[in-house]
Amino acid sequence: MAFWKRKKRDDIITLGLNRAATPEEEAIARMPDEPETDFVDKLKQAVASTRESLTERIEAVVGVRREIDAQVLDELEEALIGADIGVQTSLEIIEKARQQVARKQLNDVEELKRLIKSELREILDSAERNRKRGTVASETEVPLDIKPYMVMIVGVNGVGKTTTIGKLAHRIKSEGNEVLICAADTFRAAANDQLAIWAERSGVPLVQQKPGTDPSAVLFDSISSARARNADVLIVDTAGRLHTKLNLMQELEKMRRISNREIEGAPHEVLLVIDAVTGQNGLEQARQFTRAVPVTGLVLTKLDGTAKGGIVIAIAKELGIPIRYVGVGEKMNDLIEFSPEAYINGLFD
Ligand code: GDP
Ligand code: MG
Repeated sequence: MAFWKRKKRDDIITLGLNRAATPEEEAIARMPDEPETDFVDKLKQAVASTRESLTERIEAVVGVRREIDAQVLDELEEALIGADIGVQTSLEIIEKARQQVARKQLNDVEELKRLIKSELREILDSAERNRKRGTVASETEVPLDIKPYMVMIVGVNGVGKTTTIGKLAHRIKSEGNEVLICAADTFRAAANDQLAIWAERSGVPLVQQKPGTDPSAVLFDSISSARARNADVLIVDTAGRLHTKLNLMQELEKMRRISNREIEGAPHEVLLVIDAVTGQNGLEQARQFTRAVPVTGLVLTKLDGTAKGGIVIAIAKELGIPIRYVGVGEKMNDLIEFSPEAYINGLFD
């Protein structure tokens, strides 16, 4: 078992990797934390292009008119669909607006915007209410009597699982928890190295084995290590290759079974990572994963790179799974706890 022992700071990187770290990797690993900017601002920045495509189109449509007429509503419908909120949801919201206009309950543009805001907010709040009992809403709430509290990270390749784990390890550790990372994506050789760099950045130990090892064996090891170290939280990286979908799902199920046998109630959280840039495609991935593993929450990455941030709404609406975090960049602090209120305000204000 390759267990990452902390020694002198200079030794750490080479210990975690299967090879010597390049100077660039060392530089990244030593990158000091940037100051924590206000997360509301960061979220607002991340949804800037979505806001532009959505709100500014709404303004453009309704700004010149005082009346809410059929054309305003049609264009609004288009704007909502364009932001990837989902066709069905967009139609429903506009239909509601249409009825309220007919009944003279909705008289001006401000009221119309308020209606859209509150409808979108309700979708997110309703997903939040589905939060599985016993899962945490915030890492500060990790129950002390559950040790290790296991968080399993799933999702297809390239969505940002490893990056999210690095950021998450950093966050949870900063909250005063002992964290351990399990490198159960043994499929790609590079996966271990990448995770090792993140583990180093966040100063969290990593349990890994050579590529090709049965992921469940690494998981098993990491559980023993977590117990031996009295770790509070164990974060498990998993493989995400899609071309062998069936195997992947079976593997995840096996890991879930082992976790559950070894630690009561584990995995306590299964976070599905979805790349916001992939839009509706991400929704399809979510459907498949939720059928195979008990997903308790979502992490939506790369929200900083898309004008289709409305996918947050589409996912919450269809799957009813709460969004736990959003990724808004590639740096350590670019992971924000999702808040329906901050998100909606970021879109409209
Ligand atoms: P994995 O295959 O699911 O483990 O994905 P990785 O963690 O390797 O990430 C794939 C790529 O997405 C990397 O280049 C990351 O830097 C990038 N990435 C991950 N999260 C974010 C994010 O929130 N914003 C941006 N802009 N890039 C991200
Ligand atoms: Mg990975």
